[in-house]
Amino acid sequence: MSRGKLVVISAPSGAGKTTIARAVLAAYPTFRFSVSGTTRPVRPDEIHGRDYIFLTREEFLRKVDAGEFVEWEEIYGDYYGTLKAEVERALRDGQHLLFDVDVKGGLSIKRVYPEACLIFLRPPRVEDLLERLRNRKTEKPDTITRRMERVPMELALGTSFEHQVVNDTLERAIEEVKKTVAAYLTN
Ligand code: ADP
Ligand code: 5GP
Repeated sequence: MSRGKLVVISAPSGAGKTTIARAVLAAYPTFRFSVSGTTRPVRPDEIHGRDYIFLTREEFLRKVDAGEFVEWEEIYGDYYGTLKAEVERALRDGQHLLFDVDVKGGLSIKRVYPEACLIFLRPPRVEDLLERLRNRKTEKPDTITRRMERVPMELALGTSFEHQVVNDTLERAIEEVKKTVAAYLTN
């Protein structure tokens, strides 16, 4: 059996990662979503074990000490991390994995797994992020402000990703990401 392949999608908050990741997963049943651990509160439409493994700060830090993460970051005051067991199992089973992680996490995954394909999603304009986050109605205004503060760093680091996709029109961006994934799978 061949080894599983790894696709990382990163972007500033509100750029459309979750929406596009879901479309890729729907188009490619051979991919599974890499479920990260996080200490942030669960959103109404999220399910423990499907979207994230929701952990207390104590549980998360215990896993850090036990070396259970490939990478982890503190983002917007919460911890987020990729679980080693999740990735190793997928690679062993020949299962492809799709990651939705921040830019720093994406670059860390590439250091550990150089074969990973990194896709950075850009908003057409920074103001679109603000508008999309407000429309999503999942974040309080102060959380939105916090998310926006990280954007310049994310846009700068994102330039080092091998694939850059602008999420202008959702359907067009989904097609471009799907083409990128298809090309990576044939290599
Ligand atoms: P992220 O996971 O990067 O934070 P989401 O996928 O949750 O972003 O998208 C943020 C919001 O923007 C959602 O409400 C989503 O429906 C919307 N959205 C995504 N792509 C577009 C687009 N191309 N044009 C307009 N709205 C979009
Ligand atoms: P959200 O709270 O909107 O779900 O995610 C906030 C940020 O954390 C996003 O940029 C998302 O990609 C990132 N993220 C989610 N899981 C992980 C992870 O395991 N590692 C890292 N580094 N970032 C993550």
